[in-house]
Amino acid sequence: MAAVEREGLDGLLVAPGPDLAYLTGHAPPPLERLTMLVMAAGRDPVLVVPTLERPLAETAPGAAGLGIVDWRDGHDDPYAIVGDAVPPGRYAITDHTWASHLLALQRTSTEHTFVSAGEALPLLRAVKDEQEVERLRAAGSAADAVFAEILGLAFEGRTEREVAQDLARLLREHGHQRADFAIVGSGPNGASGHHDSGERRIAQGDAVVMDFGGVMDQYCSDITRTVFVGEPTDEQRAVYDIVREAQQSAFEAVRPGVEAQDVDRAARRVISDAGYGERFVHRTGHGIGLEVHEPPYIVEGNATALQPGMTFSDEPGIYLEGRFGVRIEDQVVVTADGAERLNEASRELTVVA
Ligand code: ZN
Ligand code: ZN
Ligand code: ZN
Repeated sequence: MAAVEREGLDGLLVAPGPDLAYLTGHAPPPLERLTMLVMAAGRDPVLVVPTLERPLAETAPGAAGLGIVDWRDGHDDPYAIVGDAVPPGRYAITDHTWASHLLALQRTSTEHTFVSAGEALPLLRAVKDEQEVERLRAAGSAADAVFAEILGLAFEGRTEREVAQDLARLLREHGHQRADFAIVGSGPNGASGHHDSGERRIAQGDAVVMDFGGVMDQYCSDITRTVFVGEPTDEQRAVYDIVREAQQSAFEAVRPGVEAQDVDRAARRVISDAGYGERFVHRTGHGIGLEVHEPPYIVEGNATALQPGMTFSDEPGIYLEGRFGVRIEDQVVVTADGAERLNEASRELTVVA
């Protein structure tokens, strides 16, 4: 609540989603029935839940010490309950709140104003504790193992979709409950940053960008490696080396007190100096935790000072339209005096069959 008051807010309203899971351990599916954690300055927090979800809420790891108020279908107005639980004022409301709930709250509680929690409190979940870092590291290690294993399977002659399906299967085999994405972009498709794996058959001479990850014990993995089918050309080799150097340079820039944008600049400088600045078309990274993309964003314009425990991706790339792309992505954690990688899969140029 200290951060809430520092922002001049009177409280925070939290709907189901990563923020509610973070604050209470309660992770119900978001539904049309209102569930909301109500935190008002100077008052005890209250979790408002539908009556039928009360037993689930009571067993949530963070529910001890939380007042739980339930409301019944056709009997109680949950929006009035929330409105009555907070004094008039300005409240942050989490970004995962459905518009229908926010609009109903605005209709019911005309003395309250609401602002985006993502804008007012972007760093709510940004600094991870030791246990969170360990979970991210475990998810990262699983993704590393998946990369090592995919190298032993065939690339040439198979479709992107087939390789993507192998990546998803391997993520589950390595302990992921969810394999959320497996992007395989071969040849010219690798030049499209978030290309969806398709029916293109991977061929000799292709660079293949593989960006994959998911969720293990609630925390996310996200790794990218680019491999070459057969010996790379001199140009492919040169582009790969530039991206690898940019990725390393960003990593070395990470330490407490450095601004997020400085890390982006470190990667961008290497790529610009090599003449490919226009071909590095995205930010250098995004925070990771309960969500695969969350603050802090490693992007020009973000002056957020890095703190120990912040976790984010380091993923520069070069995309040559119609030809090929290269991206290398690791997750990193800020330590007391620098940074550590949460992915250790090889970044050496790798040739596959
Ligand atoms: Zn992405
Ligand atoms: Zn990724
Ligand atoms: Zn990423």
